[in-house]
Amino acid sequence: MTEKIKIHFLGTRSMVPDAKRNHPAFLLVYNAENILVDCGEGTQIQFRKARLNPCKITKILLTHWHGDHTFGLPGLLRTLSTSGYKKKLEIYGPRGIKKHLDEMFVAFGTIQEFEIQIKEVSGKFFENDDFSLEAEKMIHVQPCNAYSFVEKGRKRIDKDKLKKLKLGSGKHLKELKEGKDIIYEGKKHKSKDLVFEEKGKKVSFVLDTVFNDKIVPFVKNSDALVMESTFDSSLNDLAKDYMHLTAEQAARVAKSAKVGKLYLVHLSERYDKNRDVVLKDAKKVFKNTEIPNDLDSVEI
Ligand SMILES: [Zn+2]
Ligand SMILES: [Zn+2]
Repeated sequence: MTEKIKIHFLGTRSMVPDAKRNHPAFLLVYNAENILVDCGEGTQIQFRKARLNPCKITKILLTHWHGDHTFGLPGLLRTLSTSGYKKKLEIYGPRGIKKHLDEMFVAFGTIQEFEIQIKEVSGKFFENDDFSLEAEKMIHVQPCNAYSFVEKGRKRIDKDKLKKLKLGSGKHLKELKEGKDIIYEGKKHKSKDLVFEEKGKKVSFVLDTVFNDKIVPFVKNSDALVMESTFDSSLNDLAKDYMHLTAEQAARVAKSAKVGKLYLVHLSERYDKNRDVVLKDAKKVFKNTEIPNDLDSVEI
């Protein structure tokens, strides 16, 4: 099995929050990596409500600089500082984000005493032995990025075959995993017959954007797709005017991109009493769709 990936939905509303649904914020946890995607107002409170420790955050990926996605930043950074945050916090965003953050630091004075690294990114912008992070430009009122977390595949040994051949020793396992053929008790065993590649998982986040051709290739084969659906398809024109997506468009993306599961977020407050309108709109195209509540979490 590949490692567990957990997504915490900390805020699932769009412009206006209420007691139940906060501004957008999503936390992806993978081993010691805690990646926060967007940071709407009150995100640090959502961490507390979800019994999560914000000091574990390693990276913040900002989709764009609209207030519903960023107003939680100064408060969160101040709290991290007060709580003795010692790591170098990496903040990534689209073009222009550095200027906005610099202006925020000027406006609020001393927010944080720890080190922050800010990068404006597109394409693959982070990679280690376990996973990579990718960004793709979306089309919104201002520069906006979609993000993908892409786990690397792992070499696995077919243990049943190994047992049958009585190839138990550690040295042999290592060589086989490295792709080397081995000779054991006079018999040759080929690596390709015993080793297989286990595919890594992929999680994508597509927040504010109008429908565009870049989305499907970018989120292709995601196990989980967290996607905005501010409107349902009866308000198609409004979605276009405000540069947002409908639930039906999100579902079409999920279907074309062969996504595992679609999570609809950033819902307009007009659907508070009837979220089924949004869910049905998506499900008629892509069945495996869910509308998570704030503080829900899923394991991928
Ligand atoms: Zn928004
Ligand atoms: Zn926006």
